[in-house]
Amino acid sequence: MNHIHENLSEIRQRMDSAASRSGRKAGAAELIVVSKTFPADQVQAAFDWGQLLFGESRVQEMVEKIPQLPARLRWHLIGHLQKNKIRKVLPLVEMVQSVDSAELAQDMERIAGELGLRRQILLQVNVGLDAAKFGFTPESVRRAMEQILAQPRIELAGLMTIPPLAAEAEKSRPHFAALRELRDQLETEFGAALPVLSMGMSGDYEIAIEEGATLVRVGSAVFGKRG
Ligand SMILES: *Cc1c(COP(=O)(O)O)cnc(C)c1O
Repeated sequence: MNHIHENLSEIRQRMDSAASRSGRKAGAAELIVVSKTFPADQVQAAFDWGQLLFGESRVQEMVEKIPQLPARLRWHLIGHLQKNKIRKVLPLVEMVQSVDSAELAQDMERIAGELGLRRQILLQVNVGLDAAKFGFTPESVRRAMEQILAQPRIELAGLMTIPPLAAEAEKSRPHFAALRELRDQLETEFGAALPVLSMGMSGDYEIAIEEGATLVRVGSAVFGKRG
């Protein structure tokens, strides 16, 4: 599993270069390693090379994997969360990046209260208006902001997006720029701090960092192709 070490080192170098190219500090963006479909021993290998932050997109898979790994690992949910899984997920993760409706945020607030927890969230925004994806439209985010900002147990930290799949990484750039601009507008309109921009995957994380990403979600560039 030496390839995991080499891949991680290369990705971290590329992340730093992308940051400095765009006048940002090295370390301006944090790497979240997406471990969906990869077994616990490969996650352990990434952890052994210093990676602490991981993302999973399916609740059932995450629930099975986490107990096999050291408790020091930090987990984000990055896939669609069904309401009936909220209670299972909240104790396991530090952040849910994929909050895609005001109703989900409301249910999370209530259940976080019952569990005595506070959690960070990102709102998943469909800046590409891709009907195949979950997520808010820029307009529906605006409508949900007041409610979500008023929820004390669910702290809104920023926005996340998944651009439409494209053959060339450069095609993602306008979507990343649109998410950053939407974030800037929401901060002004609602007087809120939204420091986190989660954008960029294996094929386009460098471009995402050039456009202001603070979290990049990278899976196959670390572990290899998913089967
Ligand atoms: C799978 C997934 C990723 C990582 O994709 P790679 O192309 O393997 O880097 C990132 N974000 C989300 C939401 C995912 O589901």
